[in-house]
Amino acid sequence: MRNPKYQDLKGKTVVITGGGGVLCSTLAESFAGQGAKVAILDLKKEAANQIAQKIVEKGGIALGVGANVLEKDSLQEARFLVNEKFGTCDILVNGAGGNHPTGTTTKTQFIEEDLNATEDLRTFFKLDPEGIQFVFNLNFIGTLLPTQVFTLDMVGKEGCSILNISSMNAFRPLTKIPAYSGAKAAVSNFTQWLAVHFAPVGIRINALAPGFFLTEQNRSLLTDKNGDHTPRAQTILEHTPMNRFGEPEDLVGTTLWLTSNQSKFVTGITVPIDGGFSAYSGV
Ligand code: NAD
Repeated sequence: MRNPKYQDLKGKTVVITGGGGVLCSTLAESFAGQGAKVAILDLKKEAANQIAQKIVEKGGIALGVGANVLEKDSLQEARFLVNEKFGTCDILVNGAGGNHPTGTTTKTQFIEEDLNATEDLRTFFKLDPEGIQFVFNLNFIGTLLPTQVFTLDMVGKEGCSILNISSMNAFRPLTKIPAYSGAKAAVSNFTQWLAVHFAPVGIRINALAPGFFLTEQNRSLLTDKNGDHTPRAQTILEHTPMNRFGEPEDLVGTTLWLTSNQSKFVTGITVPIDGGFSAYSGV
């Protein structure tokens, strides 16, 4: 264990959905570094197991669990496994989330000629309701169901909290991705609702709003076939005062602070981690 700074996290049971992915695998490792017992839940069981194995090889305590955040039965099975192995859950990170290409427009703005455009152009009028539904389900229902299942472990215990993963686009929508923007706005709103609802039983709920991190889900929007930045990526960097994309490690400090007792009077906030993107008007 490397220099644990948040002593109260030691021995706690942390459940991280989407823990096999880029950002949340780093969060899983950071909790393990504080001496927490980390259950990594992911649709891709293999990915969850790999991260768990990596943590265990470094002397941490971790368990990979295959689970679908959109199926309550699957989450209940996961809870049973986690309870059996690590005890009841103290901290839940709702990390599973993402976008879908059919909920995304090809162009930033609409012009009249687009009505006569070829098949390849996905205008607003060609957005697929099923793709939009997929994105709302994954991000919102995929936060609701794990919260329903794992907060049952937290009622009656002290020092429990939930961390949701929202996004920059929750504050102001990003161009082209109306479904993902709307779904993440719902996650931020739900974070506040949950904070109010669970305050009497001492469960705190906060969220991170990561800015732009180059990961698998946005790689095709931000880099071309040669790995060079797309015009969209260049625009992002021009609007990020710190002039770089985020690194997964940039999320660690805020995550540990928001889930540890060091933030024990903080609930219902969404913290931007964006290199100044949300502060900059572009002029
Ligand atoms: P990622 O795709 O690397 O990780 C997401 C993980 O969720 C994957 O391992 C995937 O298998 C898992 N998952 C997908 N559907 C699932 C389901 N139904 N049940 C269980 N697991 C499922 O993505 P990431 O970039 O690490 O994103 C993590 C979170 O951060 C997401 O909520 C994402 O929306 C959010 N986010 C990412 C960025 C970014 O720039 N990458 C910015 C803001 C917010």
